[in-house]
Amino acid sequence: MLIAPSSSHCCANCFAHPWLKHFIRDGGDEKGTCSYCQAHHVRMLNIEALAEPFNNLLGEYVGESYREHEIEPGSHHWRARPLLEALQEDWELFAPVTLARNTVASLLSAILNHSVHKFGDQLKHDSWVLNHSTQAMFTASRQFNKFFGCDPFSDRISFEEVRKSVELLGTAENQVADNLPYFAVLLETGRAFVRARQGCEKDAVGTNKPYDDLGPNPLHPASRANTDSQYALYLADAATTALAEIRLLPGDVASVAEVSLTQNVTVLDLSQSFGEINPFVTKNLSWILDLSHLLSSVAEVISRPAFNPSDYALTQHMANIARAAGYDGIRYPSALDGRQNNLVLFTSGVVRIGNTWVATQVEPNS
Ligand SMILES: [Zn+2]
Repeated sequence: MLIAPSSSHCCANCFAHPWLKHFIRDGGDEKGTCSYCQAHHVRMLNIEALAEPFNNLLGEYVGESYREHEIEPGSHHWRARPLLEALQEDWELFAPVTLARNTVASLLSAILNHSVHKFGDQLKHDSWVLNHSTQAMFTASRQFNKFFGCDPFSDRISFEEVRKSVELLGTAENQVADNLPYFAVLLETGRAFVRARQGCEKDAVGTNKPYDDLGPNPLHPASRANTDSQYALYLADAATTALAEIRLLPGDVASVAEVSLTQNVTVLDLSQSFGEINPFVTKNLSWILDLSHLLSSVAEVISRPAFNPSDYALTQHMANIARAAGYDGIRYPSALDGRQNNLVLFTSGVVRIGNTWVATQVEPNS
């Protein structure tokens, strides 16, 4: 059966987004020639069936009049883009064949005819729109030095203040904490990590032996994810990572321990890829996108060694939100050991220390 132009049906070849292609192939109930991309003998889906996933995606876009007070008379908002262009730039939605045939505007218009926008905007394919995620949580998106309306490099915000903000409906900290579950992972009992501490002891005959106590420094000096005296235990996935993180010089020795979890813990995972959010099914899409930009900034900072403690003001603030929200710790990438990850635990009494040994840093290339 040939579907007429301005058809109510489209096919998977019209689109480039992998999830959308699967959705159309799986749901397709007609066979024919697609009037939007001209593919022959393909499974086609009634465009009405795209309403729900597109409603979810379109919630991320608001008409530029949303920020009317920032628009110069006779021009557009400096961050606004026509909807079609925004969708293509942000998500690579449409296939080159549909873009080249210029039927893409009529395809998007047919989809928009079925969609209901959550902010009540009647979006058209050429409406000038803004990304809602850039303002979802008032975090000055992608500018982590300004996030939460404070300057974490000079404003010192205590854990007690953060805890109050997390509980206060509508604050940025409250919204962040509410959406953190999307980025949380469970680490199961028995899972093994490694801890390294510079130096070692000597036994009676002068042989190196590891320190007896390889738990955290009881003073808990301020570091990446804790301010002074807050409990924190820093671990790594592998011995090479743990050793790289304490930055030994050639010839230096370190005491190393196997450390395993004695109970399940739930941690904020900053080691994940933040680029794989599915805009068609992710609830609270704009908040999750905003938070993913923020967390990828935090991941970048927390993975690097700091030159002075104030470099960690941002990551300590984020860690305090995670603590106040009840997470047991944060997993984060290691900038010093490639693809490996680190873990900081905020909850005490959840690990057992196993085998210990002394490691010596060898000369490079020796
Ligand atoms: Zn098609």
